[in-house]
Amino acid sequence: MDMERHIVHCDLDSFFVSVERLQNSSLIGKPVLIGGKSDRAVVASCSYEARKFGVHSAMPMKLALRLCPEAIVVQGDHDSYSYHSNIVTEIIKENVPLFEKASIDEHYFDLTGMDRFFGCWSWTRELRQRIITETGLPISFGLSANKTTSKIATGQAKPCGELKVDCGTEKHFLAPLSIRKIPMVGDKTYTQLRNMGISKCLTLQQMEVFTLRRVLGENGISIWKKANGLDESPVVSFQQQKSMSKETTYQNDTIDMEVLRKTLAKMVNELAFDLRKEQKLTGCITLKIRYSNFDTHTKQIRIPYTNSDRVIDEKIKELFTKLYSRRMLIRLIGVKFSHLISGNYQTDLFNDREKDLQLALAMDRIRLRHGFKSVTRGGLFIQ
Ligand SMILES: [Mg+2]
Repeated sequence: MDMERHIVHCDLDSFFVSVERLQNSSLIGKPVLIGGKSDRAVVASCSYEARKFGVHSAMPMKLALRLCPEAIVVQGDHDSYSYHSNIVTEIIKENVPLFEKASIDEHYFDLTGMDRFFGCWSWTRELRQRIITETGLPISFGLSANKTTSKIATGQAKPCGELKVDCGTEKHFLAPLSIRKIPMVGDKTYTQLRNMGISKCLTLQQMEVFTLRRVLGENGISIWKKANGLDESPVVSFQQQKSMSKETTYQNDTIDMEVLRKTLAKMVNELAFDLRKEQKLTGCITLKIRYSNFDTHTKQIRIPYTNSDRVIDEKIKELFTKLYSRRMLIRLIGVKFSHLISGNYQTDLFNDREKDLQLALAMDRIRLRHGFKSVTRGGLFIQ
């Protein structure tokens, strides 16, 4: 018989805003928007005080300021968000044997089998208090038998709350909720479902799965399962979370710096493009060098979570300078991205680089349509 699972989802409340408030207490209690100030900027995160005015993240900054003119706009700081995110992860790591870091402000724990000794609910409540006390950051969590239901429960518990959905009551809990609350329902799917007259999870629960499949394909099956509180997906431990890498072996071993830097830039560009395509960020990069005598050296560094090739390219160059000190012929070089989490780089936080970013986004769009090789940057990021 399958053991009943106990899965926790926890999510820091308006995380970017909370970090800014740690550094500037005058922002507490006020409507705060995180994002750029340019015409194209969007809201990366906003405080609950701003949400009361109808502001939400991903909304154009201009519109947000029209809805809430007294809002304070703060330009974001990725380094500081990554730093605080990692402090939270460290506390979790010390306490939870099996956890997954899903995004910069979200973690899943698998506490299955633990209840006999501690009681998952009270144990998680204590851990939540510890995180709040040690970091000063508000966090909410949901507990249920699977990841999707727990994530939705967290959403219902916010801000700064906790919610438990007992095993067997998932459908009952989900029934009155909007289909918007299902994690994989984006704008397009939402419109499709609304056009079918579906607005609540209850309606999805009452439908036959094949009806949804006919309209939405495999996606439809997945949405139907989620609306019914069914989700078998495992919590993937931090160690097992996948990485991505590329290697280049030279036909003739080389010592030519220009060649080496170009190879690195190319591999970084391709990997960063793959990251963006999968909507992931990396928090750790590794450089590998194999010399002509087959001696192999690697060096890795933690970096603020990013999928920007410009940022990663700078870091990999630093690594290369540190690692390649022997002036020996190189046979192979490789790059690996690990500590992958879900997320989109909030490009608009960096107004000063906006030209670069707009170019990068335009290139990504062309690549998605015509393949990676259709555009290259030439030596743009090779200094
Ligand atoms: Mg959050």
